[in-house]
Amino acid sequence: VPNRTNLCPNHSLAILEVPVPPRFNSTNIVSSLETLSLDGYFSFENNHHAAKDFGNIYHYLPSAVLYPKSVPDISNTIRHVFEMGSASELKVAARGHAHSLQGQAQADQGVVINMESLQGLEMLVHTGNMPYVDVSGGELWINILHETLKHGLAPKSWTDYLHLTVGGTLSNAGISGQAFQHGPQINNVYQLEVVTGMYVCAIQNLAHLQITEREKWLPVQRSKMADLFYGVLGGLGQFGIITRARISLEPAPKMVKWIRVLYSDFSIFSKDQEQLISSENSFDYIEGLVIINKTGLLNNWRSSFRPKDPLQANQFSSDGRTLYCLEMSKYFNPDETKTMNQSIENLLSKLSYIPSTLFQSEVPYIEFLDRVHVSEKKLQAKGLWEVPHPWLNLFIPKSRISEFAEEVFGNILTDTSNGPILIYPVNQSKWNNNTSLVTPDEDVFYLVAFLTSAMPSSTGRDGLEHILTQNKRILDFCATAQLGMKQYLPHYNTLEEWQAHFGSHWKVFVQRKSAYDPLAILAPGHRIFQKAI
Ligand code: FAD
Repeated sequence: VPNRTNLCPNHSLAILEVPVPPRFNSTNIVSSLETLSLDGYFSFENNHHAAKDFGNIYHYLPSAVLYPKSVPDISNTIRHVFEMGSASELKVAARGHAHSLQGQAQADQGVVINMESLQGLEMLVHTGNMPYVDVSGGELWINILHETLKHGLAPKSWTDYLHLTVGGTLSNAGISGQAFQHGPQINNVYQLEVVTGMYVCAIQNLAHLQITEREKWLPVQRSKMADLFYGVLGGLGQFGIITRARISLEPAPKMVKWIRVLYSDFSIFSKDQEQLISSENSFDYIEGLVIINKTGLLNNWRSSFRPKDPLQANQFSSDGRTLYCLEMSKYFNPDETKTMNQSIENLLSKLSYIPSTLFQSEVPYIEFLDRVHVSEKKLQAKGLWEVPHPWLNLFIPKSRISEFAEEVFGNILTDTSNGPILIYPVNQSKWNNNTSLVTPDEDVFYLVAFLTSAMPSSTGRDGLEHILTQNKRILDFCATAQLGMKQYLPHYNTLEEWQAHFGSHWKVFVQRKSAYDPLAILAPGHRIFQKAI
């Protein structure tokens, strides 16, 4: 069995020079896991919830679910699986809030680690010049918001929905309307504690390198710490499990001015969006929505937005046209209302939206950030939250966005869509490009998110099959037209597709896998690495 002595010195390869151990089957896997001494516990039965995610399309039943109470529970479990080596095909998936779409947090007959059980680690807010909060990898962003607000602080970069875990979003990117200014969430992390696929625990601190002294853990070589840190960010859980993160904070405002305006011409809409994300003193949040063939407009955009002038808003009729909604917000404190209004007036005066379609609202900061939860509760009450979600998230380079919009919104999606379609540009020139996140080659690109719900037994336009076919048409178009599109929250079925997704970054991705998870134990739900590499 590999141990410290038969790991090669640079820890990049495990040398399995061992007599062939007995093969493990599901029965002795259970009994072998039962021998581990843990602060938390394993569950071997009734684990069907761990075979489900928000996508509700893929379902893989694990052999065991670990409810860790401590970080050593996680490292000991991975160590145990690692030491089984080639005698077992057991894989390990960290499960955050399971809001993945295609089984990414699942492990077929493997071990699922329920990261939210780690929440017991205390959240620590540090005030001062560069404020930050230390949180568990299984912490929900909504809890971080509540805790940091007690100190008048908050993270800078968000997702639209906050009931997701730190480890889950940092494994992807974490993108919302603040990303044009602050970058995605993966660019707002100072430090990570990670348990790799070799049960190694490493802490990377951007300020000073620091290696954990936890007993029995093998430190990752100092020279590799930065590589691991950046690899894990956006790394789809392939290199390690994030057990703790240090997130940068900023002073939190009390209120948010929330504005929506409409356009009927895509080129004017996108020009205004691009101008806003490149201005120095812009809004604090910029997104956009496509509204296809909707007549009762207000009932159809995300219901948490309640404009102050409902009469004017209700009178606006889209007459079935495709419209583009620019959504912006500006943060402020009550004593800054006057200057905030002046600055908004100035910003709006440069935009070319349909004049009668200025819808405004003022809401507390927390209500604005937690806005999607309002819709969640409504859908849950109607039994419509747990339906299949064949979502498609794409990054489209700026130079090709008009072509994309013309074909997709003009030809492919001509009928009512079954959920919001988000569209907004970001500029990655200031983002850190050492992370594992894959983006298009151009500095400015658009996030286009088709957030579709399928009606479970429908065979019609709102059925799963029809929506998947529509998604395929969109993907086929991007490929045929060679738009340089990259999938966000990527999902592929073949190695060739993964290689094409990573492009020139594939080599580094594979090197990192062989350095930090050479037996390909971690995050099997992405189906990138089928066996040890
Ligand atoms: P899970 O689904 O549990 O896990 C996702 C992946 O991360 C899996 O591969 C898992 O193994 C791995 N993982 C989980 N925890 C860890 C850990 N601690 N260490 C290492 N790997 C880990 N994304 C955006 O960027 N912007 C948005 O605005 C946005 N809005 C969303 C709204 C909704 C309603 C939903 C359902 C999703 C949204 N997403 C958004 C996508 C979301 O960020 C990802 O699906 C994210 O992975 C979900 O987090 P989770 O905690 O549920 O992760």
